[in-house]
Amino acid sequence: MKVNEGLALTGEKCAVLVLVVNCGSSSLKYELFRGDESLASGLADRVGVNGGSQALLTHSTADGKQTIEATMPDHTVAFGYVVQVLTDPQDGILSSLHEIDAVGHRVVHGSEQFTEAVLIDGRVLAAIEQYCKLAPLHNPPNLEGIRACQQHLPGIPMAAVFDTAFHQTMPDYAYVYALPYELYEQQRIRRYGFHGTSHRYVALQASHYLEAQGVPLAEQKIVTCHLGNGASVAAVQAGLSVDCSLGFTPLEGLMMGTRCGDLDAAIPLHLIREMGMGADEVDALLNRRSGLLGVSGVSSDMRDVIKAVHGGAPRAQLALGIFCYRVRKYIGAYAAAMGGVNAVVFTAGIGENSPEIRRECVRSLEFLGLQLDEERNQNVSVSDPVAVISSDDSLNHLLVIATDEELMIARDTARVVRKLGT
Ligand code: ADP
Repeated sequence: MKVNEGLALTGEKCAVLVLVVNCGSSSLKYELFRGDESLASGLADRVGVNGGSQALLTHSTADGKQTIEATMPDHTVAFGYVVQVLTDPQDGILSSLHEIDAVGHRVVHGSEQFTEAVLIDGRVLAAIEQYCKLAPLHNPPNLEGIRACQQHLPGIPMAAVFDTAFHQTMPDYAYVYALPYELYEQQRIRRYGFHGTSHRYVALQASHYLEAQGVPLAEQKIVTCHLGNGASVAAVQAGLSVDCSLGFTPLEGLMMGTRCGDLDAAIPLHLIREMGMGADEVDALLNRRSGLLGVSGVSSDMRDVIKAVHGGAPRAQLALGIFCYRVRKYIGAYAAAMGGVNAVVFTAGIGENSPEIRRECVRSLEFLGLQLDEERNQNVSVSDPVAVISSDDSLNHLLVIATDEELMIARDTARVVRKLGT
């Protein structure tokens, strides 16, 4: 057994001014932090779609919201508007861009090379570029975001914070697929796991909670359920990720909004051989036409699916049943993998907001010492950093914790920059 020495479960606070940037294929999300305090945040949407002609930037601060409609053909132009709104002489939050101490970028795939956040230099950029082939939908826009910032903020240190880094502590028997071993050695085909920044943030919060309950870090066994459009479960033992339901790509594991999750690998072959589909068609079917959307025929959005269930739609009912059954199955599997479970955490859009789904996901898990308190489950407050939804006589803990990937990226970036100064 090989257990990599990876990322310790620490979140450090540091009162430097950090801009967090998260670029998707047609979006640019940002948030400005001083230490743990969020000063401003925003989203540029529809960047590059139809030449960026309908792009919209929404910027929020404690004083209110403002929107800018403009043509944003690419991330560099979009970032120009972010700079403009942040430094607006009337109501901008910064008097000069030079006030920013560092920029932290979310990067989806860091392969096996990156086990923690790193300062971006030529070598790191080349590596992120190289891993575009492992995450073709995610790493290219992440790279564009970095390049856009380099143009607008020359000389300001930047860090890359990887979604895969937290899971680099998985043991080899959890990450190697039962394929010819050369595929791992030569092509690096293995489980990477994703949503690492979110799993790490909520595991850290849960870890503090368990310590206060008298469970020391070394004995902690936490299952974190990130249930959003993308969804995954992770097993976190003594502060280290030991398994994650997402695999070589963010397709494996749970049922998601439009992604199928676990599947017999022979099904794509059947689609190709018997139904004459091409690789791109199969890719689109598994990634964009499956999941909640594919089964329910209603929507990829859980709120719509729940509404359809209440209206009596049988396929929506089935979709919801599959979704919750898989979460339940993974909680049980990861409890077995760790030899127990002290806490199960629900997070992200569905996990934080749907008492109905949470109830179904832990139904009949009393044998693991997980006893839901339905009243607490119905009354989770978003302002509560750690909401307990297990009953007082439950042996183990059921928790709802709002994820904050941006804050985690800001903290990691601050740490990277602090190292630079020492
Ligand atoms: P992303 O992965 O895009 O960041 P989110 O974490 O925002 O996604 O989660 C989006 C999902 O959360 C959607 O399926 C949405 O329907 C679901 N969701 C949000 N609020 C609720 C709610 N009150 N009840 C059920 N599902 C919800």
